[in-house]
Amino acid sequence: MDPVFIPYGAAGTVTGSCHLLAYRGYRLLLECGMYQGEAEPRNFTPFGFDPARVNAVVVTHAHLDHIGRLPRLIREGYRGPVYATEPTLLLLRPILEDALKIMEEEMARARRKGLPVPEPLWEEADLEALYRRLEPLPYYRPRKFGPFSVELQNAGHLPGSAFVVVEVEAKRLVFSGDLGHRRKEVLPDPDYPPKANLVVSEGTYGDRSHKPLAATLDEFARVVGETLARGGKVIVPAFALERAQEILYYLREFEERRRIPVAPVFVDSPLTTRVSAIYERVRDAFSLKVQALFKAGEDPFRPRKLHYTAGVEESKRLNTLEGPATIVAGSGMLTGGRILHHLRHHLPEPHSTVLFVGYQPRGGLGRRLLEGARRVRIHGHEIPVRARVVGLGGFSGHAGQDELLDWLAAEPRVLLVHGEPDKLAALQSQLEKRGQRAEPARLGHPYPL
Ligand SMILES: [Zn+2]
Repeated sequence: MDPVFIPYGAAGTVTGSCHLLAYRGYRLLLECGMYQGEAEPRNFTPFGFDPARVNAVVVTHAHLDHIGRLPRLIREGYRGPVYATEPTLLLLRPILEDALKIMEEEMARARRKGLPVPEPLWEEADLEALYRRLEPLPYYRPRKFGPFSVELQNAGHLPGSAFVVVEVEAKRLVFSGDLGHRRKEVLPDPDYPPKANLVVSEGTYGDRSHKPLAATLDEFARVVGETLARGGKVIVPAFALERAQEILYYLREFEERRRIPVAPVFVDSPLTTRVSAIYERVRDAFSLKVQALFKAGEDPFRPRKLHYTAGVEESKRLNTLEGPATIVAGSGMLTGGRILHHLRHHLPEPHSTVLFVGYQPRGGLGRRLLEGARRVRIHGHEIPVRARVVGLGGFSGHAGQDELLDWLAAEPRVLLVHGEPDKLAALQSQLEKRGQRAEPARLGHPYPL
């Protein structure tokens, strides 16, 4: 029997990353992510393998769709350690604790309304058990897991994000995790993978390349500058991990270069506040430019008048704040959180701007605003839209098609995961045109190395 790679998640979809490597009775799990979306039933279906028989788990980065079922894995009988880089181990905690809070709120709401209380995917005790199993695995330090030698290299997608190089019986497998967008300023560029017998690659943007970042940044500076100059508020919905800090980085940069006026910047998201505190502690996880700023005594993520709001009362006071300001709040896709209050108060203001810096799903509030809706419903209220609504596409945290093709250039055989079927098909056909073997992964299907 050859060593095999078996996808148990993120096959033909972008979330739920979870894959097994098996050889001679040893089972190494790569990631254990959550399927994301309203009441996603796939999180509750059995894993497809016995968690009690997995020997070790390695995770690539701290996004929920790569770590969100780790406590579930323990609840279902996993007894071994979970490995990741130090920054990932730090960032994983606020992300999972936030997910727990959301699950508990949903249960409390159901109880209040007398509805059936949903079964928890996992509970605090499972999370505590996970925390006792966490083990650091630094970049570029191969480690033996049974027959497998595993090395993490930099994926440039989040602080501490990694792709995985596995050697077994003179064969090599590379698992991309999520691959970062090259030439972004905050994070280092991804490393290139060694030539492998099989590369398992993400294909989130398998069908298109990103616009150049410079054009996005020019528009960002222009829109923020214009809004602040006329005394308006800039409302930025942003993911708490990475996108919010990246926005703070550019706001600081633009202030320093006098591209925008110095005005108060409020971060109104408890999760963002926790993540930003971790950024201070993992300074060498960033690009050389960001590291140099830290070394010079600067905080690269701190515009001059930055303020992290402390509690709900302070958050509410922002509603009546006079004068120009930028407010960064979550959730990034407007599925809940404090951003909804800010939209409710500022969408009717013609001098304010709502600035989208992340993906907005079809049918969601963000997408409707971007499509030019004149009225929207928020918390049961009809809200007229008079503010300017701008969407900036260039901030993606994932490699675009051109970057994926560049990263995969030397690889003879590619298995595609973590992408919608049409995106994976587009990437597959580009790879095949170059004479590379490529196919989308099938759930539960074993792929020999
Ligand atoms: Zn990710």
